[in-house]
Formats: sequence, C-alpha cells, structure tokens
Amino acid sequence: MPEVFVGLGANLGEPAVQLHAAVRSLAALPQTQVKKVSSFYRSTAIGPAGQPDYCNAVAQLETTLKPEVLLDALLAIEDAAGRVRGERWGARVLDLDLLTHGDTVCSTARLTLPHPALAERDFVLLPLAEIAPEAHIPGLGTASELLARLPTPRLVHWT
Ligand code: ADP
Ligand code: MG
Repeated sequence: MPEVFVGLGANLGEPAVQLHAAVRSLAALPQTQVKKVSSFYRSTAIGPAGQPDYCNAVAQLETTLKPEVLLDALLAIEDAAGRVRGERWGARVLDLDLLTHGDTVCSTARLTLPHPALAERDFVLLPLAEIAPEAHIPGLGTASELLARLPTPRLVHWT
C-alpha cells in the first residue's frame, strides 16, 4: 500500500482539539489506516500579519485511495471542521495538505505532489522527520536530509 504523509495545521478555535479530531477523521476514511502521528508543534504564522500561532503536526497513512480522491477527502474534512476560505494563507480552523503519496509526482490545477512548499517549511519537515526520518520525498531526498538543509528550527512543542 502506498505510504502517504499528511500535514495538519490550525490557528483558530482550539487548534490541538481540531488536530486530534482531524486525525480521527483520517482514521475513519475508507481503505485507510493511520500508522503514526507526530507531536504537535507551535509555529509562527506565515502570510497576513497578526494571526495566532499555528499548531502543526504530520500523520503517516497507509491507503489505497488515489491521490485526487484523498485530496477530496482532506478538503471535505476541512469543510466539515468549519473552514472558511478567505485570503491566501489566512487564518484557518483546519488545513490538511497532502505532502507525499508514495512515489507520485504530479502537477495539475488541483494537486501538486510532493507538496510544493514542503522543502522550505520547518513546521512540516520537523514533525515529518520525527515520525519518518527516512521517508523518501520523490525527487528531493529524505525528510531528515531536507530538514538538515534548513536553519535550525525554533519550534516548540504545543502545550
Ligand atoms: P494552503 O494550504 O497553501 O494555504 P489551501 O489549503 O487553501 O492552501 O489549498 C488551496 C488548494 O491547493 C486546494 O484547493 C488544492 O486543490 C490545492 N493543492 C494543490 N496541491 C495540494 C496538495 N499537495 N495538498 C493540498 N492541497 C493542494
Ligand atoms: Mg492546504
């Protein structure tokens, strides 16, 4: 079964509560098992200023759902959590990003794999390397290699 990594983030409402609920929703998807979930981390929001900090985590799944089908499921979980789509990178109650899906490399209007910002984001790579340091990011290297190329992350655990 393809190994899949999903990035979770939230900075409105009760971020950690929403991330726990999102993990339960992922586990309830058909043909899908949640294998691992990282610690929850606190990161400073990128994008429009004045936003609350994010709570971020990464989940490792095994699923036979195809990438586009899984993307639709992630967007449906975001909608069910009450996400309102406003300005780009604006605050949100839940963000679920498909980071990698097995060896799939693609770039369509709806889906880019690996996720285009993955290699620049410590709040993705740190939790990813925590649960799967040897995870292979197609075309880029392993999670721990990518993390080592960034400045030392200053993320702290979410408490
Ligand atoms: P962001 O996460 O960059 O703030 P959104 O969560 O609002 O943006 O997602 C906007 C769109 O990005 C989604 O509707 C989806 O079609 C597209 N997208 C492209 N590639 C991916 C991916 N790998 N994971 C999640 N969404 C993606
Ligand atoms: Mg997103």
